[in-house]
Amino acid sequence: MARHGGRGWYGRVFAAAIGVTTVAAVTSVWTAQAGPATGAQAGAGVSASPSPGSPGSVQAKVSVDIAHASDHGARGVNITVDDGPDPTWTPQVLKVLRDNGVKATFCMVGTQAEAHPDLVKAVVADGHRLCDHTVSHDTAMDKKAEAYQSHQILDAERMITEASGGVRPVYYRAPGGAFTPYSRNLAASRGMRPLGWNVDTKDFEKPGSAAIVATVKSEVADGPTILFHDAGGDRSQTVAALREVLPWLKQQGYSFGFPVR
Ligand SMILES: [Zn+2]
Repeated sequence: MARHGGRGWYGRVFAAAIGVTTVAAVTSVWTAQAGPATGAQAGAGVSASPSPGSPGSVQAKVSVDIAHASDHGARGVNITVDDGPDPTWTPQVLKVLRDNGVKATFCMVGTQAEAHPDLVKAVVADGHRLCDHTVSHDTAMDKKAEAYQSHQILDAERMITEASGGVRPVYYRAPGGAFTPYSRNLAASRGMRPLGWNVDTKDFEKPGSAAIVATVKSEVADGPTILFHDAGGDRSQTVAALREVLPWLKQQGYSFGFPVR
């Protein structure tokens, strides 16, 4: 899709988002359990502390380091789904996740969230987490003024939170991995952990569902955070690939978690 800026996007992704896994894992000191349990969370409320981002949860500063690790430990994987929500594809992705009992992290574009609040609420209702993916998905935002970066991050945070009915995004993923020290600090100050990835399935390039599955199988050993998309074009290959690879991951002994905060 044109807004991704064509070829070269993925190359920059590697430079920006990969390679600080160790630092992120070591310096992550904040956990969901660190905040006081206010008892004000919505929902079934069987856990002792509120889910990160839920209404009534404490908005605390998180690490500025780009997270890659899973809160499920060494055999945990994090399914992340970017650029939606999309009225055609998000419901199909949600169904595959539900059928497999998998919770994922949805990195939403602010304008998409604003246009489809029902889908944002459906994502939250299924127990998935929200991630701020900026207002307009500008993969060159790291070259622009801090005021522009601030607008992109904070306005999207507001748009997603309003669309969800008050559930906040708890991660921030820069489009194309275009993080800056400023944007990471700003997001972290709002309780949104900067979020990278380890495995780029390249589903955005529509290589065929078999190729998407093969990429996951060959690269999952490199790190736990796997990147998929539920918008920006025909995502039928992504849906088919998820249907095949989620059971495979389970068979390999992986469990599904969320990125560390
Ligand atoms: Zn994206």
